[in-house]
Amino acid sequence: MIRYAKPTTVDEALALLSEGSWRILAGGTDFYPAQGSKPFRENVLDINGLAALRGIAETGTHWVIGARTTWTDLVRHPLPAAFDALKQVAREVGSVQIQNVASIAGNLCNASPAADGAPALLVLDAEVELRSAKTTRYLPLERFILGNRRTDLQPGEMVTAIRIPKSAAAGTSCFVKLGARRYLVISIAMVAARLVIEDGIVSDAAVAVGSCSAVAKRLSGVEAALRGLPVDHGLVAAIQSAPMDELSPIGDVRGSAEYRLDAAREIVARAVLGTVALDDKVAAA
Ligand SMILES: Cc1cc2nc3c(=O)[nH]c(=O)nc-3n(C[C@H](O)[C@H](O)[C@H](O)COP(=O)(O)OP(=O)(O)OC[C@H]3O[C@@H](n4cnc5c(N)ncnc54)[C@H](O)[C@@H]3O)c2cc1C
Repeated sequence: MIRYAKPTTVDEALALLSEGSWRILAGGTDFYPAQGSKPFRENVLDINGLAALRGIAETGTHWVIGARTTWTDLVRHPLPAAFDALKQVAREVGSVQIQNVASIAGNLCNASPAADGAPALLVLDAEVELRSAKTTRYLPLERFILGNRRTDLQPGEMVTAIRIPKSAAAGTSCFVKLGARRYLVISIAMVAARLVIEDGIVSDAAVAVGSCSAVAKRLSGVEAALRGLPVDHGLVAAIQSAPMDELSPIGDVRGSAEYRLDAAREIVARAVLGTVALDDKVAAA
C-alpha cells in the first residue's frame, strides 16, 4: 500500500525521504496533470506543511527563495530591479489561480524545456540548494536541470531553496515570452535578459533562452557581443550577427525549428531593448 505524508518540519521530511522512495508534491500544478487518471503507485510526500520553506530571505551574500515560495509570493516581495524578469515570469505562469499555489522550485524540478522560470533564473546565476538527511549541497542551475524532465536530484534529496548571489542581482532585467496567444499559454520560445549599464555602456550582460533546446541556455556569444557596447541602436545589430550556437530547437505542434530560431533572435533583441528601457526608468526614479 502506498503512503501519504505531510510533514511539518524539514527534518521530518528529510527523514522520510531517507527511508524510501517518495514523489514530492508541492503546488501540484505539474504533479497532478502528469498523474492524470492513473492510480498512484508511489508514496506521496506533500511538502505544503513546511512553512519554513516558504518566503524570500536576504543573507549577507545571497537572496534565498524557499522551495515552497509561490509565484504570487515572489511578485509581492520587494526585490532589486535585476529580479524584474523573474517577476514578469511570475505574472505570466498560467493564471492567477496557478500562480497562487505553484512554486518556483517546482517549475525547475519538473524540468520542462518550456519552464518559464529557468531562463529568468539563469540570468541571475541561480543555484539550487539540495538537502538530504545527511548533506546539503549547492548546484548551479545549469548543472541541476540535465535534460527534458531530468534533474540531478538524488534519492533522498529535495530542493530546499533557490539562491541568487548578490553579485548577480545587479542591473535591470526583462522577460519576453512568445506563445500562440498572449496569456495562459505554453511558450514557443522565451528570453530573459539582464544588463548592467554604467555611463551609457553595457558593462555586463546575461541572456538566456528557453524552449529552443532541451534545457534553457545562456547565450555566451550574444553576451560577449553586448559587453562594452554603448547603449544605442548598435545593440540590435550586435544581436543580429551574434552566434547562438547553444540553441537546437525541435519542431513541434507549436512551431517549426526554423521558426523558433528566427523568433529567438527577435525576442532576444526585444528583451535586451526592454532591459534598456527599464534601466532608464530606474535611473529616472
Ligand atoms: C493551467 C496551467 C498553466 C501553466 N502555465 C505555465 C506557464 O505559463 N509557464 C510555466 O513555466 N509553467 C506553467 N505551468 C506549469 C506549472 O504551473 C509550473 O511549472 C509550476 O511552477 C510548478 O510548481 P508546483 O509547485 O505546482 O510543482 P508540483 O506540480 O507540485 O511539482 C512539479 C515537479 O517537481 C517536483 N518537486 C516539486 N517541489 C520539489 C522540491 N522542493 N524538491 C524536489 N522536487 C520537487 C515534483 O515531485 C514534481 O515532479 C502551468 C500549469 C498549469 C496546470
